[in-house]
Amino acid sequence: MHELSIAYNIVNIATKAAQEAGAEQISAVHVRIGALSGVVADALRFSFAIAAEGTPLANAELIIEEVPVVVFCPNCRTEVTLPNPRLFRCPSCHRPCGQIVHGRELELVALETL
Ligand SMILES: [Zn+2]
Repeated sequence: MHELSIAYNIVNIATKAAQEAGAEQISAVHVRIGALSGVVADALRFSFAIAAEGTPLANAELIIEEVPVVVFCPNCRTEVTLPNPRLFRCPSCHRPCGQIVHGRELELVALETL
């Protein structure tokens, strides 16, 4: 499962950061996942609970911010949010646009410690 390896990665990074900060426990982990990242939020939550067992993140809450797909439309010369992440067409002028600005994110944004 793809999400499980990502969850272990998050736990490793967060554990290291907690040690460096001298924190014994992490209460919350904030991550950002794009609609194109291929990560399913529910699967990540489930995997995180497994990966966090026995670590300073064992009781941490995983807070997921889902990022929609934003592309640049060369015709409108602006950034537009796609209502359907699989249909790369500008919602205002309906021309195809493939310059992805947001949506590929898979980031650890912040940690909260106790
Ligand atoms: Zn457009």
